[in-house]
Amino acid sequence: MVDHQIRKIVIVGGGTAGWLTAGVIAAEHLANSEQGISVTLIESPDVSPIGVGEGTWPTMRGTLRKMGISETDFIRECDASFKQGAKFAKWVTGAEDDAYYHPLVLPQGYEQINLAPFWQEQADKVSFADAVSFQGHLCDQHLAPKQNTTPEYAHVANYAYHLDAGKFSTFLTKHCTEKLGVTHILDHVTDINSHDNGDIRSINTKMSGELEADLFVDCTGFNALLIGKHYQIPFINKRHILFNDTALAVHVPYETEQSPIASHTISTGQSAGWIWDIGLPSRRGVGHVFSSDHTTVEHAETELRDYIKQSIGDKADELKVRKIPIVPGHRQVFWHKNCVAVGLSAGFLEPLEASALVLVELSAAMISEQMPATRSVMDIVAKRFNDKFLYRWDRIIDFLKLHYILTKRTDTDYWVDNCDKKTIPEDLRQLMELWRYHSPWHSDFTQIDEVFPSASYQYVLYGMGFKTESAGTQRRSLDKQLAMENFRKNQQLTQKLIKGLPTNRALINKIRQFGLQRI
Ligand SMILES: Cc1cc2nc3c(=O)[nH]c(=O)nc-3n(C[C@H](O)[C@H](O)[C@H](O)COP(=O)(O)OP(=O)(O)OC[C@H]3O[C@@H](n4cnc5c(N)ncnc54)[C@H](O)[C@@H]3O)c2cc1C
Repeated sequence: MVDHQIRKIVIVGGGTAGWLTAGVIAAEHLANSEQGISVTLIESPDVSPIGVGEGTWPTMRGTLRKMGISETDFIRECDASFKQGAKFAKWVTGAEDDAYYHPLVLPQGYEQINLAPFWQEQADKVSFADAVSFQGHLCDQHLAPKQNTTPEYAHVANYAYHLDAGKFSTFLTKHCTEKLGVTHILDHVTDINSHDNGDIRSINTKMSGELEADLFVDCTGFNALLIGKHYQIPFINKRHILFNDTALAVHVPYETEQSPIASHTISTGQSAGWIWDIGLPSRRGVGHVFSSDHTTVEHAETELRDYIKQSIGDKADELKVRKIPIVPGHRQVFWHKNCVAVGLSAGFLEPLEASALVLVELSAAMISEQMPATRSVMDIVAKRFNDKFLYRWDRIIDFLKLHYILTKRTDTDYWVDNCDKKTIPEDLRQLMELWRYHSPWHSDFTQIDEVFPSASYQYVLYGMGFKTESAGTQRRSLDKQLAMENFRKNQQLTQKLIKGLPTNRALINKIRQFGLQRI
């Protein structure tokens, strides 16, 4: 096979991963022009997208913007609302008042000074999140992260979205096909044909014949048609670290059309897992992720319905619950030959920090930015992609596990087993040792574009009551002064923003009526 330019991309799968990847590549490589790279997306009418995945990261703003999407249209059509972080309830002691925030804003003065050691001196008076950021207070009051005069995608407080996954796929389909020049085929892929060197030459479909391409993107979800079934790339199972293997998902109605919309994801610890609670404008998305080694589906469902009853009473018994099996882990490599896996085909971890869609965005961005000009350089790009994403999966696994290992809960084997040293990755164990004597900081991590910055580790560690022993040592008075200034600034900002921001519901209503200032 002679070397050739990469001119044609086929994406198999039309869930969120497929459409986000198609949109990012098509926008950057001008799929709607003669000179651009051609992008075709094929999705099966027989296999529905998974239809869950409602929590995102602030990166989504940049991704949508790059694709030329109006934020107003997105909010109106995807039943989207604003997310400013996550509140973890009942993860430390399991008591009713046990809760902490992982906000999306960085601690005040984060580029200049590590406030954690200074906060520890007053840890009995104020929580870490409240001392260094205003966002927990905004979340407590269901406030929005901006005003309706703030332009599209700009923020007063950093934010991501909660969205309806099904509506999001439909919205992206329309945008990608009408504006970005993506060709859409509704058909089932039946077979894969190879070149002599093992590259995929083409795929066969039930009705549309054979489709050739230079690069194939596997977005077939848990089917992993190309990377798994065809190439047999091994799946690295991580269940010995992250135990949860089943999800129960349900849509919950609000009491009234104008009920408050939560500004954050609420994650509440249960006897053998945790419940997510996401507020969209028209409904809540609620689900229970649990370990079937530690409880039964029946008991998990009872806990889920009991949780929902606290807000809507006995109507909770009528709701239809959907069961989704999950296997935590990822492929040994993601880019093999001329095929790259993005989304659930690449792997999946429990949605505790909504890390799946951000990996889709990061994958699509790297494929697009590093698009190999010819087949001969593709293996170099593939290796770099694999190295980068293996590192990222490992860091995400470490960060998710961190939420479990600081628990003081001993009420069930689930929490006790989660703290067993054998289940803690070596890198995380080493970091925990280091953090006994210094607070997490930029230099603890090696990459400039870490998925979770040291600030995220600070929010979780100190939110869960971790103590860094050096906190009592003498500090330079200059640093102390700067720290106090930052604490003061945060208090002032908190007061100002609480007064100046509308509620999430009020802002969504305004956007629906008038729209945001377009850019
Ligand atoms: C319980 C749960 C909760 C989650 N919560 C979050 C969250 O809060 N935040 C987050 O970021 N992520 C979350 N996720 C992950 C998120 O849902 C997925 O990452 C996202 O939806 C992308 O899925 P996908 O597109 O890879 O796969 P899917 O949505 O499953 O799409 C697969 C596509 O492949 C197509 N296909 C399959 N076989 C064929 C074939 N033979 N021929 C042609 N097409 C084919 C299907 O038709 C479909 O279009 C969650 C996942 C689960 C399970």
